[in-house]
Amino acid sequence: MTQTTEQSRALFARAQKLMPGGVNSPVRAFRAVGGEPLFIARASGARLWDADGNELIDHVGSWGPMILGHAHPAVVRAVAEQAALGTSYGAPTRLEVELAETVRRIMPSIELLRMVSSGTEAAMAAARLARGVTGRSKIVKFAGCYHGHADAFLIKAGSGAATFGQPDSPGVPEGVAQDTLIADYNSLDAVDDLFAAFPEQIAAVIVEPVAGNMGVVAPRPGFLAGLREICSEEDAILVFDEVMTGFRVARGGARQKYAIRPDLTLMGKILGGGLPAAAYGGRGDLMESVSPSGPVYQAGTLSGNPLAMAAGLATLRVIEEDSTLYERLEAKGAALEKGIAEAIARRGAPAHIARVGSMWTLFFTPDPVVDWKTASAADTRTFARWFRAMLDYGIYVAPSQFEANFLSDAHTEADIDITVAAADGALEAALA
Ligand code: PMP
Repeated sequence: MTQTTEQSRALFARAQKLMPGGVNSPVRAFRAVGGEPLFIARASGARLWDADGNELIDHVGSWGPMILGHAHPAVVRAVAEQAALGTSYGAPTRLEVELAETVRRIMPSIELLRMVSSGTEAAMAAARLARGVTGRSKIVKFAGCYHGHADAFLIKAGSGAATFGQPDSPGVPEGVAQDTLIADYNSLDAVDDLFAAFPEQIAAVIVEPVAGNMGVVAPRPGFLAGLREICSEEDAILVFDEVMTGFRVARGGARQKYAIRPDLTLMGKILGGGLPAAAYGGRGDLMESVSPSGPVYQAGTLSGNPLAMAAGLATLRVIEEDSTLYERLEAKGAALEKGIAEAIARRGAPAHIARVGSMWTLFFTPDPVVDWKTASAADTRTFARWFRAMLDYGIYVAPSQFEANFLSDAHTEADIDITVAAADGALEAALA
């Protein structure tokens, strides 16, 4: 990047007087990599332009939603047309019906679903539903997985193999933490131990079927099937958090890619096509317990918001009709992986690239990453230097070692080549 960042710096100075850390979501502040965030002025396809006019190849994609690229004409048109008809009614619309029908066609095991506005809300509502229908209070989550910022999920592992969780933020009550049990990702033994230690007390197991929130970590063969088996045996509810992976790792998400049928699924990001929409859904007998059909309460003023439904519907229509979209994404992902892996090998860098489809992370550890313990062995200082060097090359990757990057259909082969060359140069800079 050759131009200045004067405008971003000035905006950040103002923002810091107005918002905690100058941002509305923590990772945007670049604290994990140092330096100051770029303020984005506009985006198109695979490109971002910051407030100073610097052009960047975007590998963040708004953290996942922008699978078609920014400002896709069909999405822009749908949002503009709907805006002229009103932006919110607080009453049912045709758009909600059409989006729900589209989701069910793409993910046939979702019999009923409820739209909400964020992944956090979807996870929170699914936890309440699981507890409501089972009459049990405990939830199993995996270290390193993220399910939004509801109290029940801001929990880290305590000491010992099968123990209660600990609050992972001030303000999360101990009492809430006691009901969240933490297991190692990819470890069925850890889950078995928890069910043995807390018999008939576990309402649900929630998992990112491909983890994206400790960097990209694929499920081991048999891990998801094992969870399915354990939950069925124990009468616990299996929740796939597909906020990131839904419509991403395959058209039908991880449930399709790994051929596992969870009881409940969380969706977000791509579902809203870049506007705030998320959903939870699954088995009809469970979802019938949600108000007003059933007693488990959940509501939202802006749930099913018409602009968000229009953007989501336009996005999913493209996804549904484009029969080679996921092959193209896989080919781009594979080319990126190959190029970066070769650069790593050439430079003898203690690093490796992890990828599932169009999600990727460059881990600054030579060892395979299979869970939070192996992820947290990564060298975050070298990552930070690599990140800043990438920015100098005009490549915008996630500003943290423990995040996924996302390719879109708008990334061209040339964009991949430019990114690989930049990643190579940035490795040299980071390792110097
Ligand atoms: N679940 C997963 C897997 C996520 O990646 C995220 C957000 N990155 C969430 C839930 C929370 O979604 P939101 O930020 O929309 O609340």
